Amino acid sequence: MSEVHDVIIIGSGPAGYTAAIYAARANLKPVLFQGMQPGGQLTITTDVENFPGYPDGVMGPEMMEQFKAQAERFGTEIKFEEIVEFDFSQRPFTIKSDFAEFKANSIILSTGASARLLGLENESKLMGFGVSACATCDGAFFPDKEIVVVGGGDSAMEEANYLTRFASKVTVIHRREEFRSSQIMLDRARANPKIEWELNQAVSDIVAGDDGKVRAVILEDTRTGEKKEFATEGVFVAIGHVPNSQYFKDQLDTDENGYVLVHDGTHTSVEGVFACGDLMDHTYRQAITAAGSGCMAAIDAERWLENQAHAPTEASAV
Ligand code: NAP
Repeated sequence: MSEVHDVIIIGSGPAGYTAAIYAARANLKPVLFQGMQPGGQLTITTDVENFPGYPDGVMGPEMMEQFKAQAERFGTEIKFEEIVEFDFSQRPFTIKSDFAEFKANSIILSTGASARLLGLENESKLMGFGVSACATCDGAFFPDKEIVVVGGGDSAMEEANYLTRFASKVTVIHRREEFRSSQIMLDRARANPKIEWELNQAVSDIVAGDDGKVRAVILEDTRTGEKKEFATEGVFVAIGHVPNSQYFKDQLDTDENGYVLVHDGTHTSVEGVFACGDLMDHTYRQAITAAGSGCMAAIDAERWLENQAHAPTEASAV
């Protein structure tokens, strides 16, 4: 039988690395799988100005390198592989990448969430150059600018309101006239004098200027198909997030959107499986809250393993 690890951590954002730091310092010799986007969502942002301890800010990718180094310093084994199969039906749990199989007495899931994007070619090209999927991360880079928010749900209303702290004008672009957002959030946005509306409009392209930054969006009327250019310096895509739970959501309790449900801290519906970070949190979604929940998951796993009759590496049926 292959080696049984005490703790395997899936995911390498602030939640996963923090769980690794704590688990490694507790002598649990964690193995962490980085997945397809090592460092997670912070690697697609630029300056992080709201993580305590960095008074001058820090670049997202650099911060994640530091998290990784700290996890490695205490003995975390880091593997650059994506785990694509999970079997939580018996302990030790079995997980598989495309190359190998691994076993663990406990698993910490920190696979995060991905912003849902429009799927336009220029959207990914201009990410960080005027396109963003995170108002909290990037809003401050648009002082006195005219920008747009795409979406008609609570996220779009919240981001539009938030962005008026910086921008001179925020135009909400929504593909219908009806909104998915709650009435109170919609009313608040409607009452904000800095917010304007482009309804029944879909963004069919994003246009860059000579400086390589966003200059405009192309709007297509969803009723008539008519197109027009709309000048803007920033495009905030706020059409929802998708938790990265696709490989295991059938084996755990999740909400209707696929976010993993936790109880008593970070315990999932399967004993010995813990979840932290954006995978279980669609409310705060911040690096600092993800890191905090990663710490909680490692402590929960450590205590749970200790309670397993002080024989954490012994196989036992669920
Ligand atoms: P959401 O409710 O699913 O809304 C997504 C919005 O984006 C919808 O208006 C949808 O348009 C639009 N959209 C989706 N795909 C699109 C596409 N390809 N092109 C253009 N538009 C597209 O997502 P959310 O706003 O992120 O909210 C998710 C959950 O978090 C909700 O339960 C929400 O209540 C909650 N939330 C709460 C708060 C709060 O209470 N403070 C803040 C944020 C989020 P259609 O309507 O036409 O489908």
